[in-house]
Amino acid sequence: MAKLNGGKKKRLHNCMDVNVAIKYIRQHIELFGSEIYTFTDDTYNNEPNNHAIPHDSLNNFKASIENCEKCNLSLTRNKFVFGSGDPDADLMLIGEGPGKEEDSKGEPFVGQAGKLLDKILKAIGYVRYDNVFIANIVKCRPPENRNPLPSEIEKCTPYLKDQINLIKPKLIVALGKVAGQTLLNENMLIKEMRKKTHRYNSIPLIITYHPAALLRNPSLKLDVWGDFQYIRGFMKP
Ligand code: SF4
Repeated sequence: MAKLNGGKKKRLHNCMDVNVAIKYIRQHIELFGSEIYTFTDDTYNNEPNNHAIPHDSLNNFKASIENCEKCNLSLTRNKFVFGSGDPDADLMLIGEGPGKEEDSKGEPFVGQAGKLLDKILKAIGYVRYDNVFIANIVKCRPPENRNPLPSEIEKCTPYLKDQINLIKPKLIVALGKVAGQTLLNENMLIKEMRKKTHRYNSIPLIITYHPAALLRNPSLKLDVWGDFQYIRGFMKP
């Protein structure tokens, strides 16, 4: 397992173009305030995801499961939330389950947490429909935003596994404890899961806080910023 370089001395990457650096600093200040943190080692180098799957495969898969009634969450959902984004994405983000707004719109991460996630993605040079796919562990909203039950997770994760197999991302990022524990199949604390590169069916897997946790506890933003800097370095062509 490779470790994040969380404790190293911070400095701006010395190869960074001046204009890119200015843009980067502005985005960082917009997100996190005036303190600047970067990493000295972002040398992870991976081949781009050059597979090309027919876009309708994912749509066909969605159509085949969107009326699922395998668990009781089907009884209380308004909309099934399959996930959205680029079917050829290199970067796949996986949260826990739809919340109220997601349940009403049928899209993942469209509430306040989703807006924050969009900002974080923008700060590392990504937008959600371009080379990014966002999904959840369970596709239907747990009532009152409770954590999904183990039985619900067990019934729904085969769908997620098929999604991942169709998209074949270069990197999976689990957002939050439930997503991390499910993908690792381990009952670990999030602080134990962070700062490591795990594997999910041979695909590199990083685990960080859910954006909703940042809204509740802004002091976590610095940790998440560090995690996404690592992700940015990992995804560099
Ligand atoms: S949460 Fe998953 S398993 Fe349960 S009804 Fe929705 S799609 Fe089916």
